[in-house]
Parts: sequence; structure tokens; C-alpha cells
Amino acid sequence: MVYFDHNATTPMLPEAEAAFLAAARDHYANPSSPHRAGARARAEMEEHRERLATLLGADAREIIFTSGATEGVNAVLRHFAAVRENGTVLVSAVEHPCVRAAARAFWDDRTIPLSVDAAGRLHVDDVAARLSAGKTTLVAVMAANNETGVVQPWTAIAEQCHAAGVVFLCDAVQWCGRLPIEPLLGNTVFVGSAHKFGGPKGVGFIRLPSAVEGFRASHGGEQEDGRRAGTENLPAVAGMVAAFENAAARAGDTAAVLARFAFRQAFAERMAAIGGRVTTVGAETLWNTVSLTMPHSPNHRWVNRLSRRGFMVSTGSACATGRDGPSHVLSAMGVGDEAARRTLRVSSGWTTTAADWDALATAFEEVAREPRETPSGSHVIEIPE
Ligand code: PLP
Repeated sequence: MVYFDHNATTPMLPEAEAAFLAAARDHYANPSSPHRAGARARAEMEEHRERLATLLGADAREIIFTSGATEGVNAVLRHFAAVRENGTVLVSAVEHPCVRAAARAFWDDRTIPLSVDAAGRLHVDDVAARLSAGKTTLVAVMAANNETGVVQPWTAIAEQCHAAGVVFLCDAVQWCGRLPIEPLLGNTVFVGSAHKFGGPKGVGFIRLPSAVEGFRASHGGEQEDGRRAGTENLPAVAGMVAAFENAAARAGDTAAVLARFAFRQAFAERMAAIGGRVTTVGAETLWNTVSLTMPHSPNHRWVNRLSRRGFMVSTGSACATGRDGPSHVLSAMGVGDEAARRTLRVSSGWTTTAADWDALATAFEEVAREPRETPSGSHVIEIPE
């Protein structure tokens, strides 16, 4: 099997698996227990918190461990909706459903969408213009999009928000472990999820600036300094931190990143030769993601035929699978419904090789040549030019 669905989830890195198993075996005690085994588990937790904070350039007290980005984003949006009752939230039109749905749930008609251009990019000037209206209390813009890989100017937006005294929520799920972490400002809430960078599923983090008071993701015990009740998942945290350290080291290696961009580019060129069109032309993207509109056939046909050949690609966001209607991300970019239904997402990982990309391109070419159903029921054979 050749796996090209890393934006949905990634396999666990060996280092993460080892750290996960070691923590489960050696530190099974509850970090809140008063005995020596509990104290050792607590010390282990705090060491992981320090290490994660170092990766983010944050203070350890600013790190809250969660069950993943969905929990983190929900808790943050709920908190600020409650403490800033009169303000509005600006939410980019291409945010992950966890941000869009949580904003709607907690901010209701105080939610204002931020549009993107045809390549899926947000423009800093648009955000600045909205901020100058003065009612905004929070801006939510993701670092990189899960469906298209488009990288947003999130550091510039964070700066604008900082200057305006506005909280900036950055869903950094697809960025972490793929590109280097940029310095985080004092207004920036940064959310990540381990299973997107080689860690276990069901664990993530929030970097909550130390100035934020009264935050409670859940009520109950006093874990996470009272900010998230519930017994900590120490093995998962250990796996997450090991994975992040490993992936961040690769992300900091410019030559490795550029080599991955070249694999992606060579693939895109072969797709263009069979009529495939990259939806994000002109935008900066992650090195691992290609959003591709094929010249014919619904995307699920491509997914199925490629899957039968051993190549795992996706129709779009894993979260939207099974939902009716085209992707909100493509709609926001002005892609028509029919073209959106022909659009696929290909997403690689650090271990994906040039040969894997090459084999995937060949599989696409084979599927393009296969007979396909026409609306009248007869078969046509695609012959690439
Ligand atoms: N944000 C983005 C950009 C994502 O890609 C995902 C996962 O698909 C999430 C948030 C939600 O992460 P999790 O499922 O780990 O809660």
C-alpha cells in the first residue's frame, strides 16, 4: 500500500511509538496521586510539557494537553465567546469544520466570515480592514489548509491582531511538523493535534497565552492547572512530544523540505499532461499536499480505482466524508460544484519517496486510460494527448 492521505492522519513514527509504550509501561500511575509513583508520572508529564513548550517557543505554563484539535478549538471559542459578550469573531471561510461549527455554536450571529481568493489565500489587508471596524475580539485563521495545503499569512495576521488588541486563534494542525514554527506572539492561541505529525490519535495541545485568565476546557478535577479536568493521557502525551520533536527537526531542514516540494511539482506536471488542474495555482502551499481537479469522472471513482491499485488518496477532508455537497473550501475559492466533485486531495508524508510519487502518477495515468461510463451508458476510452 502507498499512503497518500497524510492530511487525514499519519502513521505513528517509531520514536513516538517507543515513547508511548515506555510511558504506558513505566508511568501508569495517575499523575495526580500523592505517592511516589504518582509523583514520578507527574514529573514525566511536566518534562513533556517543557519539551513541547520549547518546540513552540512558549512558556511551559502556557501548554494545555487536550484530546486533539477539535476539543482545543471548541474550548477556546467557547471561553472567549463567554468573556467577550459584545464582540465579534472573524473566521476564515476555509477553516476546518471544528472551527466553523464551534464559532457558529458559541458566537452565533457574531460570526463574520473572511473570504479567500481563487487560490484559497486570505489577504492581510482584508483582515486589517475588518479589524479597523473595532468590534472584533477574536480572529480565527488556520496556518495551513487541510484540503488544499494553502499556507495562510498567519504570522502577519497575528501581528495585525496583536496591534489591535485582538486574540488570534491559529489552528496549526496541518502546519506542525511540516514547516518550522514561527515565533508566537502574546495574543496567539495555537492549537495542534498529534496524529497529524506522527503521534498517537486522541491527543493534542493548546498554547494559551499566560495573560488569559479563567480558562476551563472542562470542569471536574484540577488537572492542567485547573484548565482541563480529567486524568491526563501520559502515554499519548509522551508519543506526541517525541513525534513533534522528530518532525520539527525535519521541518527545519530546508534541503529536505525543498526536495519534497520537487516531488510534488513533478507529480503536478504529470497530472497536467492528463488534464489534471491544481486548484491552488499562485498560492504558497505545504510541500505535501496537492488539490487536483481531474478532467472527468467523480472524485470517488478516482479514489476507488487508485485504491484498488494500492494507492490511498482522498476526495477531500476526512471529516467531510459522507456529507452531502461539495467542500466549503473549494466553494469559498469559487470552484463550481461540478468541478469540486472531480477534485481530489493527495497528501504525502516525510517518508514518501520520489518513487512513491512517480508510481502514483503512473497509476493516475492508467486510471485516466480506463474505459469510463458516459451519461448515456456507453463507454469511452480516455487517450491522453
Ligand atoms: N483542524 C485541521 C486543519 C484538521 O485537519 C483537523 C483534522 O482533520 C482538525 C482541525 C481536527 O483535529 P482532530 O480530529 O485531531 O481533533
